[in-house]
Parts: sequence; C-alpha cells; structure tokens
Amino acid sequence: MKSLLRPPSPGTAAGPVKGWGLCLGIGALVFAASLLGIVTRPVGFMAAFWPANALLLGLLVRYPRLAASGTWAAAAVGYVAADLAAGTPPLATLWLAAANLCGVAMGWWLFGQVPVATRFLKRQMSVVLMFGICVASSAAAALVGSGTGPLLFNTAWPTALGMWFCTELINSVLILPVLLSLPTPQEARRTLKKRRWSRRRWKYGAPLLALAASEAAAIAIGGPGALAFPVPALLWCALTYGVFATSVLSMLTCFGLAMAAGAGVLDLAFAPTHAWSVFSLRVGISLLGLGPLSVATAKAASVEAMRRLHRAASHDFLTDALARRAFMAQGSKLLARLARERSSVAVLMLDLDHFKRVNDTYGHAQGDKVLHGFAATVSDALRPGDLFGRLGGEEFAVVLPRIRQADAMAVARRLCKQVRNHPFALPGHATPLHATVSIGLVVRTGVSAQDSLGALMSDADAALYEAKAAGRDRTHLYEEPRATPGP
Ligand code: GH3
Ligand code: MG
Ligand code: MG
Repeated sequence: MKSLLRPPSPGTAAGPVKGWGLCLGIGALVFAASLLGIVTRPVGFMAAFWPANALLLGLLVRYPRLAASGTWAAAAVGYVAADLAAGTPPLATLWLAAANLCGVAMGWWLFGQVPVATRFLKRQMSVVLMFGICVASSAAAALVGSGTGPLLFNTAWPTALGMWFCTELINSVLILPVLLSLPTPQEARRTLKKRRWSRRRWKYGAPLLALAASEAAAIAIGGPGALAFPVPALLWCALTYGVFATSVLSMLTCFGLAMAAGAGVLDLAFAPTHAWSVFSLRVGISLLGLGPLSVATAKAASVEAMRRLHRAASHDFLTDALARRAFMAQGSKLLARLARERSSVAVLMLDLDHFKRVNDTYGHAQGDKVLHGFAATVSDALRPGDLFGRLGGEEFAVVLPRIRQADAMAVARRLCKQVRNHPFALPGHATPLHATVSIGLVVRTGVSAQDSLGALMSDADAALYEAKAAGRDRTHLYEEPRATPGP
C-alpha cells in the first residue's frame, strides 16, 4: 500500500489498486468532504463550498497509481452515501454523483495530456494550463449536474448551470494547486534543512504580516476594490516562499474573502440572493490567486534552471566530478574553514596509469567509459563532505577534511585497491579491462591560514611522481624535506 503513495514519476501508469484500505480511505474522504459541502449548503440552494471533487482530482493526479477502478468505485459510493445520508432522493443522488465523477474524470484525463513537470506546477505555463483544465472539468460537471437545479433546488437551468460551474471553479482553482505542489518527504526535508528563515526571520515573516494586514484593511475599508487588497502581499509571499506555501496562503486568503463577502463583512454591495452576483464573486475570487501562483511557479522554474546551469558549469560533463575551477574554489573555501578550526586535511592527487595505452588499444570512446567508471568508483568510496575533482585528462584530486594521517593513507590504499579490482566492461570485448591508479597524498594536521590548496596539491603531486617512479598502482605519502644542518 505504501508504494501507491510514492511520489509521482514521469510516465507512471495507472495500475490496479491493491490496497483495499486505500480505496476505503478515498471513499471515506469523498464521503466526509461531500457531507461538509452538504452541511454548509444553504437550505434549498446548491452547495457553495464543495471540496470533494477537487480533493479527489488532486489525489488522483498527484498519485497516478490511485487512479484504478477500485478508487473510482469507492469515490462513487462516497458521493452517493453522503447525499443519501442528507436525505436526497436515491435517483437524484445517483445523478449528482454522476455529475461530480464526470467533472473529476474530465480533469483527470486532461491532466494526463500535459507533461509531468507542467502538471506538478514546475513550469512557467503550469498555472495557465491548470486553470484551463479547471474550467473544462467545472463545465463538464455543471453540464451533467445542472439538470438537477429545476428538479431539486427550484432553480432555473441556466442559473443552476452558472452556480454549479462557479462553485466547481473556485474549489478546484484554490484546492488543486495545494495538492499538485505538495512536497515529497525528501523535498520537505531538504527545505526544512536549509532553515534560512531561522537566520533571517524578519525577511521570511514580513510577507505573512503584510498579508494579514492587507486582509484586515480589506475588512476595515470594504467596498468593491477590497477583494484586490491582498494581491501585493500575496505576490510578495510568492517571491519569498515556495509554490506549495503560496498555494496554501492563496487558498486560505481567497476562501476567507469569499466567506467575508458572503457574510456581508466586506460591504461589496453584493446580493447573496442574486445568482449572477454570486457567480461574478466566485469567478472573480477564483482568478485572484492565479497571479501570485503564476509568479511562484515562474520563480521556482527559473531557480531550478539556474541550479541546473550552475551544476553543469561546476561539474565535469564526462565524469560528473567537480570541474577544475569549482574544485579549486570549493577546496580553498574548505581549507579556510579548516584553518579556523585548526583541523587536519589530506589532499590526494590521482593519475590513471598508462592511460595512453588504454586509448591506443581500445579507442578514445572506450577510454572515456573507463574514465567515467573510474570517477564513479572513487566518488562512491568518499564521504559526503569530501571533495572530488577532475583537474584535466586522466588526473583527479581529492580533499579529505578532518582526517588523521593513518586514515587518509587507508582511504588512498582502499581507492587503489578498488580501482585495481574493478572490471571495466567494454562492449565488443569478451574480457573486461583492469585499470590501475597511482596516488600521491599530503596530510596537514593543524591547517593554518598560510596553507594554500595549490601548495598542498603540488606537494601531493611530488608524492604522485614518486608513486609513478616506484612502479605505479600504489600510494605515496609526501614527506617534508629534512632541514640540512648548517655549516
Ligand atoms: P602514466 O602512467 O605515466 O600516467 O601514463 P599515461 O599514459 O597515463 O600518461 P600520459 O600523460 O602520457 O597520457 C595521458 C593520456 O590520457 C593521454 C590522453 O590520450 C588521455 N586522455 C586525456 N584526456 C582524455 C579524455 O578525456 N578521454 C580519453 N579517452 N583519454 C584522455
Ligand atoms: Mg596517467
Ligand atoms: Mg597524467
């Protein structure tokens, strides 16, 4: 059952739902959400707040493996049971459930037509597409369900059509983004780990305060423009927080405004009994949150593009090790930190043995594969805080912070052994290739501000030269030349 709630991955197909408990859960959720809609429904009127469809659609899109026949059946039972419990005649109950399911099915099918990243609000166009899908699914539900207006709610068909549509729209536009942008547990952990807000609290708290103040101003001043008062604060929230937080804040703000307007608190000259007034208000509030949400998704998309660009610039394309410039920059920064701590460091220089022969025997393309496999073997053997870079050609370097000499020697020997024992499978060759590496290392026990990465690397390079001269496939520790006694 746990696997059904895995974060979605591209191309995840709808499979059979194995967990009966999960079906039961979906049925219960639809039942509870529908009952909430019915309970808050004014007597003789259609519901104003109907979260069931948006919740069901959001869950099906977020977790595609849920979209199996069992889930749809459970949802249908949930809708029917809620209306039966509220005393709706059985035939009308089936009609209402069919309308709700039609709207959800339309939304689910349309979301299936857009690429996964766009679906989960990770692209610039995501919000526009999501809005289009909300309009289409609301229209589908309204077309099927509005016939119940004249029969059950004493409402003319065009009015019922408009009411059903605007209610669906406001619920889907406000609730869906929250579910679509729901972070995976790993994403949530990563965000919490950054803890930027603990350092600059005012910066992260100010947009929230501005939002509260603008809502208070909307209530205090009122009038037709009051609905737009929170827009600048919502935009500020969008530029400060992520897409998920912005959708939650936007949902709370917009539902709050809808309730305040309905209760007459906003003094909008709004007549709750006038159907087209209600239509205009609900559609207007649905549109209110789209701007901030678009800003949040566009910002998240550009931050992600910058992150990829930065990664591509700082990492070597062939081996995924740090590129020389990034290695030197990060290594120097690390060394400065170690100097402040007066900790120890080891710098290793690695050079593949007789690599020219590998190229000459197997070709340059196969040589590239060996370089890639070698880099993967080394980086798998390192700790998360260690630095690994490609200096050029078949030469690499490693920085091991906070390590004793004996442990650094053990790491270097282990790397040599792992490379020696690693079979590099080459296409078209029956026997795998076995490569070897020579390593020179230097260890500094109390790093000082005078130590530079360049100097340590040149000491390690001298030790590497000795390892090569001594027969290759071995490690050599750099030793300070002894001071010669004076005359
Ligand atoms: P030694 O044991 O003394 O280090 O011998 P070597 O052959 O490894 O050293 P040498 O410096 O003579 O040759 C390095 C070779 O590495 C030459 C070059 O063809 C190869 N090389 C450098 N960069 C790449 C690369 O990106 N891909 C491939 N396939 N080969 C590369
Ligand atoms: Mg070499
Ligand atoms: Mg070399």
